[in-house]
Amino acid sequence: MKYDYLIVGAGLYGAVFAHEAKKAGKKVLVIDKRKNVAGNIYTEEVEGINVHKYGAHIFHTNDKRVWDFVNAFAQFNRYTNSPVANYKGELYSLPFNMYTFNKMWGVVTPEEAQKKIEEQRLASGIKEPENLEEQAISLVGYDIYEKLIKGYTQKQWGRPCTELPSFIIKRLPVRLTFDNNYFNALYQGIPVGGYTKMVEKMLDGIEVRLNCDYLANKKELDALAKKVIYTGAIDAYFNFKFGALEYRSVRFETEVLDKPNFQGNAVVNYTDADTPYTRIIEHKFFEFGTQPKTVISREYSSEWKVGDEPYYPVNDEKNGKLYERYKLLAEEEKNVIFGGRLGEYKYYDMDAVILSALNLCQKEL
Ligand code: UDP
Repeated sequence: MKYDYLIVGAGLYGAVFAHEAKKAGKKVLVIDKRKNVAGNIYTEEVEGINVHKYGAHIFHTNDKRVWDFVNAFAQFNRYTNSPVANYKGELYSLPFNMYTFNKMWGVVTPEEAQKKIEEQRLASGIKEPENLEEQAISLVGYDIYEKLIKGYTQKQWGRPCTELPSFIIKRLPVRLTFDNNYFNALYQGIPVGGYTKMVEKMLDGIEVRLNCDYLANKKELDALAKKVIYTGAIDAYFNFKFGALEYRSVRFETEVLDKPNFQGNAVVNYTDADTPYTRIIEHKFFEFGTQPKTVISREYSSEWKVGDEPYYPVNDEKNGKLYERYKLLAEEEKNVIFGGRLGEYKYYDMDAVILSALNLCQKEL
């Protein structure tokens, strides 16, 4: 056997593991079925602008170890995510904070905002939130749920909010301060020059084979290494034998516009139910770009079907149970480790992906 590890998938999880394994003196081979590395954090230059081809990624973490780790591969800028919500032409600040409450209700002080939320929570009669709708109303009241959450969430997940788990909405902070920073993270930024360069640096000196489909050539590829780190979809690995896990997929309509500024912000969410896309990304603003043109991507969310790119695991009860069955099978695969968003069917942020890969390194290497 030529390699200690065959790493399937050149995304963030695979690249972090590959880097650490090489550093520990292991022989590694990274393969990916795409023609490029970096998985869904891949960025590509268009008109001098780094376009987040598989969806916008904003790096944020509270973990100093993770922050130091990524900073070894890229310089991070001071980008702070502050999306704007557009509800039928009315603009609101996100995440939910005093600017949002002031615009929604005219309230001026934190006490007034708190009182308004409390009134709406009491009027709803919800005690123990059992789904996303109830959780959202309990957190921010009915008006914000109706204008800023309901339509967006139903478009994003293709399911009514009453059928979605409440934890999804807990990702969003609610603040009684004037703070438009979307994340409650100590460290945040975008790698200068794009994510692709950062991942390429992690993979520096490592053999990478692109356009290489693992599942289609499993036997030959398995024979090359003692162990496999598999970061693809866990259900695909087992040929969907218990049925397919559900994912949400995203389609991007990207356009180059002959003007310097289209929407004045990197992210604008369209939170009504009728606009067919969920948000528009204006890529240059991730890097404070001053190019004469601009590149925008409209994001359309759809149910994943075989052949599409899977993006978001649908972590509801049904899929959770199905995943557990696959996980049992995965544990029986002696020389294969499943990792990452698709391998673990988990709604992981980038920092959590890195932490999880570093934890595996500690165990494995
Ligand atoms: N969300 C919402 N309105 C918004 C933005 C987000 O209701 O304007 C909800 C929605 O349910 C979404 C969840 O918050 O799925 C998490 O949003 P986040 O921005 O964290 O999603 P991601 O960046 O992973 O796409």
